[in-house]
Amino acid sequence: SSVLSDRISALQESQTIAMAKKARELMAQGIDVINLSFGEPDFQTPEYIRDAAKQALDEGYTKYTPVPGYLDLRQAIADKLQRENQLDYKAENIVVSTGAKQALANAVMSLVNPGDEVIVFAPYWVSYEEMVRLAEGVSVTLLGTLENDYKVTATQLEAAITPRTKLIMYSSPCNPTGSVFTRPELSALAEVVARHPQVHVLADEIYEYINFVGEHVSLAQFDAIKDRVITINGFSKGYAMTGWRVGYLAATREIAAACEKMQSQITSGTCSVAQRAALAALQGGRSSADTMVAAYRRRRDMVLEQVAEIPGFKTPTPSGAFYIFPDVSAYFGQTAPNGVVITTASDLALFLLNDAHVAAVTGEAFGAPNCMRFSTAASDERLHEAFVRIKASLAKLV
Ligand code: PLP
Repeated sequence: SSVLSDRISALQESQTIAMAKKARELMAQGIDVINLSFGEPDFQTPEYIRDAAKQALDEGYTKYTPVPGYLDLRQAIADKLQRENQLDYKAENIVVSTGAKQALANAVMSLVNPGDEVIVFAPYWVSYEEMVRLAEGVSVTLLGTLENDYKVTATQLEAAITPRTKLIMYSSPCNPTGSVFTRPELSALAEVVARHPQVHVLADEIYEYINFVGEHVSLAQFDAIKDRVITINGFSKGYAMTGWRVGYLAATREIAAACEKMQSQITSGTCSVAQRAALAALQGGRSSADTMVAAYRRRRDMVLEQVAEIPGFKTPTPSGAFYIFPDVSAYFGQTAPNGVVITTASDLALFLLNDAHVAAVTGEAFGAPNCMRFSTAASDERLHEAFVRIKASLAKLV
């Protein structure tokens, strides 16, 4: 028998990280790989935020921090939620964590009992399912349709809820699809949730700022269910601060206290310097994000034009985030020049890595086996080159 626990043996390695590893192996051989597998802004963290971190170091922000985060940061987050999202929270409702990832994990561990059902809207972000598994919950995947931009509908949700349903998880703007729920869509989902008082929702809004259609709606704005919504957000995407590891959740005092307790036994408060940088980020408002969003939109438009010339890719127009998520199933059953038959999106991802030297992620990682995810967080030149190569490689399949 293995020295490892059943818990860790059952856990999957993140496929986005696995793909990046394969890409690095090719790069180590001197091959010019264009890596579109990462969910990471290619921008440097804005200078005013880096300056605040340097200053914090010199001012002695080098000690343990309060478990739920510095009070002034939590207050600034509550103010942001009020100002930008019309959500009424106090500092005591906020828990700052080591990335939105830890905020999500804290909430799942705090809410899910073994055997509880967790409805995960698919295509989903890779870690949701594994967090549910760690909490010994049962994940129930609900897949949106291509025709509806992969957005799960209220009718689908109603049909999936059972007396055992404890939690629903989704992201909007969505990683991997870039879909953004509209107010009427969220209102319809909220009505369903309102009818089932045992159900809570993790609303992952980490891509809030990277939105090309305009209105961002927080599910917690619907008063009838506000106390059952946990809003997740953070600094990684909007402020290009992935490495700093600061995210947060907003919830009722009861749930926030539970997440704080969880965090107190696992990691304690997140990094002091990173928290001071996050506070500065919020004080600087959204203008640095707006500059980056303009670039993401330009790249999306450029890539969509190129992709329109690729036969067999069915690609909805993303409303936000920095990915395109084509349905590539038209290529299943085709044969590569070396005789290998492409039967899955993973096969196609591997073919594109080896032939086009472009790394992307199979939709299987996101619960959407007909699709692939390409990040558009790369320079215009590299992105353009990537899709020129992809088109040429796909033309070799027969
Ligand atoms: N939620 C979604 C949908 C994401 O795509 C990511 C990052 O890839 C996260 C959460 C985690 O972000 P953080 O860097 O704040 O942990």
